[in-house]
Amino acid sequence: MDIIHLLPDSVANQIAAGEVIQRPASCLKELVENSLDAGAKHIEIIVRDAGRTLLQVIDDGIGMSETDARMAFERHATSKISEAADLFNLRTMGFRGEALASIAAVAQLEVQTRREEDETGTLLEIAGSQLIRQEPVQSPVGTNFKVKNLFFNVPARRRFLKTNSTELRNLINEFYRIVLVNPDVSFVFVSDDELLFDLPISSLRQRIENVFGKTMRKGLSSQLVDMKAETPVVSIYGYIGKPESATKQAQQYFFVNGRFMRHPYFHKAVMAAYSGMLTAEQQPYYFIYFSIQPELIDVNIHPTKTEIKFADEQMIWQILQATVKESLGKFVLAPSLDFDREGDIEIPSSVSPDKYKVDAPQTRVNTQYNPFNTHTVIQPSVDGWEKLYENMPSSITGEPEVKTPDIQSITDLFPKDLSSLTPYQYNNRFIMLSLEEGLMFIDQHRAHSAVLYAQLREQIKQKKCVMQQVLFPEVLDLNAEDSALLLQMNDQLHDAGFEITQIARNSFSVDGVPAELGNQNALKVLIDILHSMEETGIGAQQQMEHKIALSLAEAAAIPAGKELKEDEMRDLVGRLIALETGEYSVSGKRISALLPNADILKLFK
Ligand code: ADP
Ligand code: MG
Repeated sequence: MDIIHLLPDSVANQIAAGEVIQRPASCLKELVENSLDAGAKHIEIIVRDAGRTLLQVIDDGIGMSETDARMAFERHATSKISEAADLFNLRTMGFRGEALASIAAVAQLEVQTRREEDETGTLLEIAGSQLIRQEPVQSPVGTNFKVKNLFFNVPARRRFLKTNSTELRNLINEFYRIVLVNPDVSFVFVSDDELLFDLPISSLRQRIENVFGKTMRKGLSSQLVDMKAETPVVSIYGYIGKPESATKQAQQYFFVNGRFMRHPYFHKAVMAAYSGMLTAEQQPYYFIYFSIQPELIDVNIHPTKTEIKFADEQMIWQILQATVKESLGKFVLAPSLDFDREGDIEIPSSVSPDKYKVDAPQTRVNTQYNPFNTHTVIQPSVDGWEKLYENMPSSITGEPEVKTPDIQSITDLFPKDLSSLTPYQYNNRFIMLSLEEGLMFIDQHRAHSAVLYAQLREQIKQKKCVMQQVLFPEVLDLNAEDSALLLQMNDQLHDAGFEITQIARNSFSVDGVPAELGNQNALKVLIDILHSMEETGIGAQQQMEHKIALSLAEAAAIPAGKELKEDEMRDLVGRLIALETGEYSVSGKRISALLPNADILKLFK
């Protein structure tokens, strides 16, 4: 007996759907992209239960004829390309003709659509690829899609979905990727009857501000600078964050021809332009838009289409790096630009294409930076104190052979009785101690952070954090994403000493703060905590406690630049060595380093 047979379409569609529609966010992306392709100028998104029970997209685009509306749900049905060559000349978001067939396979779908030239519109109801109803209806021009009970017939997929707040966050992230590149379209986003976004048609800059203004600390406009380059190969424009606005969790976006993309290689070009201006964990904001002839990119290499291959990536790398660097040089009064002492690329004053007919991109190597080396001292800092080194012979600044102490804990390097030591403060940042083995440097801020972190972890665990009531509670206005996070973390935050009350859907009043914070800005710390959670998503309780303790400790710790008294330094050193780690912080940053005697002697040979 022969055993091979063709799968029924409904099964094939369900399998294919797994590729395209993994979660409500992917469904949102496909529907909204279709609306954009249909020339919509106003798009409304309505979701219930983070898109599980309802995901509706209403547009004012061109609509579909009765036949097209029926056809649209067939696999490989598309109005956007007709031959393979078109793939290399894409001007629409969609082209595979798979999305609607996929959604129809795994949800209950209702669509109403009408074209301008038709008197009546069409209503279609489909569930699990089966047509249930088709009839004429009165409807406005445009298309109205309702996707109900996503994965109703694929329990495994349904179980795979995360909590509502995570899925809502995914929806919002997808929404960002679309609205940030379509400022000429207005968007409304409603979740469980709550209006989350109402974005009018505006300039790009205003759109960015409308989307992120709230979460950025000092208001957005003051923190972003323009960048622009026109070359025959590519045009690049957009906004980049000033170095001082960099955070652990900055929004970073690349778009090409109206499409969001990930591009780790170009990301490196941006980071290279910032080189020397940020510390290892700081990330700059950027919103960078490429426009390039469609033949020169291939959007076809990835099923979810966020990775895009360019014909000439090396040249674009170089253009991008130079453009970012130029903007930083022009708009940011940054003396730090000369951190790269290897001889900077000439920053072109006007971006002339010929300048870029040059060799493959070279990352300029800062010979003084070696992440495996132990000289914390070369870390760029706010104080510009590295300049102290500038006139020193390179034999000193170049390769100070500071050895990592060959031990787990620095405790062994210290005498039992610390009172015999005289600590000195160096540049208001390091505590310097003369030890038997050499000269020890301790970063005061990191040391104190480590001490506080350990203490906070313990206190949170034992629910012994001390809360300080706030006399005039501050109000924290968050975006939907962050409020969802905050609500999920409220227990842990409470254990850490925060008292937070929800006063409106996305507004919270901060009535109590951890005593350690003193007069530090509690709101900023809270936002920091939320941002650091966004990175990983809500994890186990331990993970939340870790992040909370870390952010609190960093905010409350003695800052670099603060002058310390001798006994304050001695006290801090004592607490640090009691930790039994003391060399690296929990996030892997060096706290202390020893300049061994032998190396000091070498300087005098
Ligand atoms: P693709 O977008 O890759 O062409 P889809 O399955 O997403 O494939 O859509 C199939 C077709 O349905 C599209 O090519 C388009 O002609 C039509 N269509 C889908 N959504 C809309 C909409 N909102 N307005 C008008 N036409 C639409
Ligand atoms: Mg599509």
